[in-house]
Amino acid sequence: MPELRLYNSLTRTVEAFEPADATTVRLYTCGPTVYNPAHLGNFRTFLFEDLLRRTLRMWGWTVEQVMNLTDVDDKIIKRAVERGISIGELTSPVVETFHADREYLRIQRAEHYPRATAYIGEMIELVKRLEANGVAYKAEDGSVYFAIAKFPAYGRLSRLDTREIRSGARVAQDDYAKENAQDFALWKAAKPEDEACGAAWDSPWGRGRPGWHLECSAMAMALLGETLDIHAGGVDLMFPHHEDEIAQSEAATGKPFARFWCHGEFLLTDGAKMAKRVGNVSSVADLREQGVSAAAFRHFVFSTHYRKQLNLSGAALEASVEAVRRVGDFAERLERERGGNDALAEAADALAVEATAALADDLNAPRAIGALFDFIHAANRAMDARGADQAALARARDAFHRINAVLDLVPDAGTDDEELAAWVESQLAERTAARSRRNFAAADAVRKALEEKGIAIEDSPSGTRWKKVR
Ligand code: AMP
Ligand code: ZN
Repeated sequence: MPELRLYNSLTRTVEAFEPADATTVRLYTCGPTVYNPAHLGNFRTFLFEDLLRRTLRMWGWTVEQVMNLTDVDDKIIKRAVERGISIGELTSPVVETFHADREYLRIQRAEHYPRATAYIGEMIELVKRLEANGVAYKAEDGSVYFAIAKFPAYGRLSRLDTREIRSGARVAQDDYAKENAQDFALWKAAKPEDEACGAAWDSPWGRGRPGWHLECSAMAMALLGETLDIHAGGVDLMFPHHEDEIAQSEAATGKPFARFWCHGEFLLTDGAKMAKRVGNVSSVADLREQGVSAAAFRHFVFSTHYRKQLNLSGAALEASVEAVRRVGDFAERLERERGGNDALAEAADALAVEATAALADDLNAPRAIGALFDFIHAANRAMDARGADQAALARARDAFHRINAVLDLVPDAGTDDEELAAWVESQLAERTAARSRRNFAAADAVRKALEEKGIAIEDSPSGTRWKKVR
C-alpha cells in the first residue's frame, strides 16, 4: 500500500498518516446535536467520516471510532422547555431517527455512540482537574470558566490573532463567533429552565450542567485515551468548538489532544450553508421518498473532494442516480460473467493502482470514482470480446469489490418494500399473459405503468427480472 496522506488542519499541510501504535486508529468524530433530525449537510460530514473510516480499514488498521450524541445543550433545553418535556423525551426519538438515517446511507456503525448525559461524572472530574491546574475559575454568576490567558496555545488551530483574544471577558453560550474569543463556560450554574427539563446535576460548584465543548473532551478521553490519532468534524466546528476542546484537554493532561485534525467542508444550498429544503429534499426521509438510494447520495457526495464546498441540486442528484445505475448494471454483469481475458486483467490492475493512489492522496474520492468509471468502460469492452481466463475474471472482481468496499456505490438490486414487490410481480404476470395472447399493446402498457413507478424490467432467457431504478 502507498503511504496514506491526510490534510491536517493543525499544520495546514498534507502529512503521512499512521496510527501512533501502528495498529489501531483512535478516531473521534463530533456527532449530531439531537434536538431534530440531522439534515443532509450534517450527513455530508458523516459520509466524509465514513469515507475516512473505510479508507483507514482498507489500509489494514483497526478503527476504534467514537461519535458522540450531544443530548444536552442550549438548543435542546430551549426546545424541551417550549414543549414542556424533559431533554431525554426530546432527544430519544431523534437518536433513533439518526441511526435509521445512518443505516439508510450505509454509514458504518462506530464502535461507540456515547450520550453526553451519561458522562456527567467524567465531565465534573475534568473541570476539577482544570481547577487544580489553575486554568478554571468560578465566576460571580456561579458558573465555572476556562481562563484562556492561562493557556498560551489558545487559538492555534483556528489561527486566532492575539488581538482577537479577549481574556477576562466571558461568554456563556455554547456557540459563539470569533469576536467572542473569551473565557468560555465549562460548567454552567443551573437556571430554573434547566431544572424544569431535567438538565441539571449536582457538582462541587452547585447544581448545573456541562458546556458543549467540555462534553467532547471528557467523552473522547474516557473512551479513547488522552491523545487521539484523528479528530474530525465539519469546518464550522474549528472555532470555537475544537479550539476549546484542545484547551480543556491539553491544559488538563499536558499532552497533545489529537495528532491530526480533519475538517470536512459544507454542503450548500444556493451558495449558503445548508439550512433549508432544495426542491423537495432536505433530509434522509426526503431522499427515501424521492427514490434517491444510498448509493446515489454517496456518489453525489463523493464526487466532490471533502475539502471543497458542495452544492445540493436536483440535477446533480439525478445525475448520480444515473451514474450508480451503471455501476449496478456492471456489478451484475461481472457476477454473471464466466471468464475474462488479458484486457480485463489489465483494466483490473489499473483500477487497483489508481483507486488506491487516489484515496492515499488525502481521500481523493472524485479521482477514485473517475478510475472506477474508466474501469467499467474498459471492462465492459473486454467482456464483450469474451474470454475463458478465470484468473483475469477473479482479478477484476477483486479490484471492483475492494474499491466498492470503500465507496459503496452499488444500488440495491430489488427493493425492501414488500407491497411494491407484490404489485410488480402481479404486473409482470399480467404482462406475460398478455404476451402469450400476442396482445403486445397490453404488454407495453404494463411496462409503461412500471416505468412510471421507477421500475425497470429486463427480459432474459431465464425470465423477466426487474429492479427499482428511482
Ligand atoms: P451539529 O448537529 O450542528 O452539531 O452538527 C453535526 C455535524 O454536522 C458537525 O460536524 C457539523 O460541522 C456538521 N455540519 C453542520 N452543517 C453542515 C453543512 N451544511 N454541511 C456539512 N456539514 C455540516
Ligand atoms: Zn465535539
